[in-house]
Amino acid sequence: STNIRAKLEAEQGAKSGLLVVSDMQSAGRGRRGRSWESPAGTNIYYTLMLKPDFSSDCAPMLTLVMALAVAKGIRQTLRRDSAEAAAKVGIKWPNDIVVDGKKVCGILTEMSAQMDYVNHIVIGIGINVHNESFPEEIAPVATSLYMETGEHFNRAALIEEVWEQFEHYYAIFMETEDLSGLVKEYDAHLVNRNQIVKVLDPKEPFEGKAMGITPRGELIVDTWESRRLVSAGEVSVRGVYGYV
Ligand code: ATP
Repeated sequence: STNIRAKLEAEQGAKSGLLVVSDMQSAGRGRRGRSWESPAGTNIYYTLMLKPDFSSDCAPMLTLVMALAVAKGIRQTLRRDSAEAAAKVGIKWPNDIVVDGKKVCGILTEMSAQMDYVNHIVIGIGINVHNESFPEEIAPVATSLYMETGEHFNRAALIEEVWEQFEHYYAIFMETEDLSGLVKEYDAHLVNRNQIVKVLDPKEPFEGKAMGITPRGELIVDTWESRRLVSAGEVSVRGVYGYV
């Protein structure tokens, strides 16, 4: 897993900004210990390690900054071959990039911190580029850039494109240390926006209409009785009729 390797490098003194890139993962993970399908020779797996100078409660917001960077990077890349596919790229809150309602990328952010000091943050990204099919369990929700367009892509160029987008959005994030400057653009990519969603809160699942995000990255859900703010953490969101 590129996250595990990046954490190891961080502990051994690597500088902020390290990028760990791999051709395959034998232990690729998603949130809550779930696995991330990571075959060799086809996809993108990489992790950015940062040693930022902000408080630990800023870290979860970086997942959304990266989601925006990946969505924009994929959109720009697809636009060269298929404007139609590019228009279908969006973000499923908080951290999945989808094309036409299926997941093409997952992002896993992990942090090592003391009470008020961040040792390091790793942001891991897996992008399905050239898969021609998926294992049965994830086939209904997963897709790849190849499956959406019939085209092949230069993986290094796509990493570079996302990296440039991240630098741009990260600079805007750092001006306020929150997402105030990015809410508008994030919401414009948000596939859940104005959709009825099921919030799979482990304590108490509920439904409502997703309205957009707050400057802290919470999802605003209108339940008709009240407005609830959902923080990313342990929560998944689904469409009422399917994945989105
Ligand atoms: P959600 O639960 O809403 O799908 P999540 O952010 O909680 O999103 P992650 O933890 O990021 O999901 O990803 C893990 C899940 O993604 C796995 O349980 C599996 O269903 C699915 N998955 C695993 N590998 C891939 C892949 N290569 N492409 C798309 N989906 C995948």
